[in-house]
Amino acid sequence: MTSDARATNDQIIVTAPFDGRELGRVPKFDADQVHGEVSIAHEAVATPHEPHARAAVLDRAVELLAQRHEEFAQCICSEAGKPITLARAEVDRALDTLRFSAVEARTLVGQVVPMSATTVGAVAAGFTLRVPVGVVAAITPFNFPLNLSLHKLAPAIAAGCPIVHKPASSTPLTGVLLHDLLIDAGLPPERLRLVTGSGGEVGDALATDPRVRHLSFTGSSDVGWQLPKRVHRARVSLELGNSTPLLVFGDADLDAVAAAVAAHGYGFAGQSCISVQRVLVEQSVYGEVLERLTAAVGGVAFGDPARDDVVAGPVIDAGARDKVLGLLREAEAAGARRLVGGDHDGNVIAPTLLADVDPALAVSCQELFGPAVVVTPFEDEAQAIEYANGTPYGLQAGAFTSDLTRALRLAERLEFGAVTINVSPTFRADQMPYGGTKDSGNTKEGPAWAVRELTEERLVLLGR
Ligand code: NAP
Repeated sequence: MTSDARATNDQIIVTAPFDGRELGRVPKFDADQVHGEVSIAHEAVATPHEPHARAAVLDRAVELLAQRHEEFAQCICSEAGKPITLARAEVDRALDTLRFSAVEARTLVGQVVPMSATTVGAVAAGFTLRVPVGVVAAITPFNFPLNLSLHKLAPAIAAGCPIVHKPASSTPLTGVLLHDLLIDAGLPPERLRLVTGSGGEVGDALATDPRVRHLSFTGSSDVGWQLPKRVHRARVSLELGNSTPLLVFGDADLDAVAAAVAAHGYGFAGQSCISVQRVLVEQSVYGEVLERLTAAVGGVAFGDPARDDVVAGPVIDAGARDKVLGLLREAEAAGARRLVGGDHDGNVIAPTLLADVDPALAVSCQELFGPAVVVTPFEDEAQAIEYANGTPYGLQAGAFTSDLTRALRLAERLEFGAVTINVSPTFRADQMPYGGTKDSGNTKEGPAWAVRELTEERLVLLGR
């Protein structure tokens, strides 16, 4: 955080989504201050950060984060309302993101070009260098304030790019901890600037600053797709929302299905971009699946995210709560059957299960981002694919089936960035390429993929 920002009078008061208690304050930057931070990062471009130094920062960050594991987990738990066991898992994954980014810092290379393969080319030897693109603007959402921030910051460090980071206004405290940890790990302060404040002012000023060469955004599709129109020649990477389908065929392991839906439709109150939202079930097992899901969802522990047994805490704020409850009510009014849940206490919504849901309803085809799952029967594989593909989104989809040839057909026909078979679609390991198609985005993250987005290839020719 800069002295300018510390002197700012306006502040964001960060409160706990569970009980509204004040957790801390961060400065509200104004647009001029944001441009000032970009200037600092931009000046840093002229001083190269050597790959061995980048790797050393990332290695040291692993050590420091491991030492401060519980402090970060508690911060995520209180400001995001993320159940503490899931907050700890986020810190574990953040360590992986740092480790894989350190590998990239050490191994990032260009390639040799076979110049002598033509008579024209034979006059020179040729190879490419991967050079940092320049200033990276990283704008991140509330739901994984550590690991999703690191999916931008750590590859940008590995690539040698200075960064200006804007975390979400509801969960900026983890961003402050992360910033300080990376500086403590040896990252020169001019190479990581943190700006806090509203998306409309601070996010927009950052995205539109002409010195930003790469804008890396994770958040909602509505905000994300506005950004390419606003930037000044920056490349824009978008990691956006989903309405995650899980297809259940008659030959599936139904116990595995019930376990996946209970854990991944409701974990963190459904506020992951790949939370199971739509369960599409082959008609022949529809009744049986509904029975198993009713039992499993009825057993999902919800409430105070600080409790070790809780799977579903609060949603992020009252606006999110009202949106989720409104979509559920609309679905019931349109004929959906509520099998479990529906109540709320403050921002905690009881895990809710709706059956017989028309796939055209908003509760099914828009991103819900709440602790509710909707179930729809299908007649055959073609209809299952039609329903799954029938939303604007395309991040991840999953299917449970024991038929391998069907699995291959699904992998080819489901229009998503990833298709998981007999693995919940709410799955991410941090070395994977991760990112969607259609309204869900235009890029892949994961250190090995992100680092290539954040570098440019420069061809070098050496005359013979
Ligand atoms: P959001 O409202 O779109 O906000 C994301 C970030 O954008 C925040 O930092 C926000 O700042 C900022 N922002 C808002 N308006 C802006 C503008 N006009 N210009 C520039 N920046 C702006 O998303 P969210 O509610 O925090 O996060 C949930 C969404 O993220 C869901 O849609 C989820 O699916 C998606 N997500 C996607 C992935 C993925 O990898 N595909 C992962 C996680 C989440 P403020 O907080 O100050 O408004």
